[in-house]
Amino acid sequence: MSKPALRKPKILHQSKKKHVDQKFIILTLKNKTKLVISCDAFNGIIMIGDKYKCIFCDVDMQMYTSKEQHKELFEHKKTLKNYPYIEELSENLVRPLNKINSYCTICNVMTSALSIKRHIKTDEHINELNRALMRASTYKPVDDINNNNK
Ligand SMILES: [Zn+2]
Ligand SMILES: [Zn+2]
Repeated sequence: MSKPALRKPKILHQSKKKHVDQKFIILTLKNKTKLVISCDAFNGIIMIGDKYKCIFCDVDMQMYTSKEQHKELFEHKKTLKNYPYIEELSENLVRPLNKINSYCTICNVMTSALSIKRHIKTDEHINELNRALMRASTYKPVDDINNNNK
């Protein structure tokens, strides 16, 4: 009778949490797809040089703290609602900004409205999207915005 080899219990090391300058947010789409994207990307905050810019409010911010505060502003949240995702591009999370530009939440980039369909077919975008989907399978929701009716 051969004994099954004893499996060592797995010890999960709680790795020392580095303070990462990046928060994530989990989104559940209408088709139940879950995506984990950076909180800045969700809020349309991009970095230009060493400054942050909210592309929806068109506001520049110097400091990390003012950027964090900006995301909590009522006005900002209201503005975000004026830029819904393009439904037909579903999980690609593209928000049209104006006639000229669109914003890709997945890549956290602004891109021309005309080339957005090409953009979502680029390797770069597909890789980012896959990463967002992968993260969702391991991510523990801290802030599920769909259940966050404050
Ligand atoms: Zn804003
Ligand atoms: Zn993209």
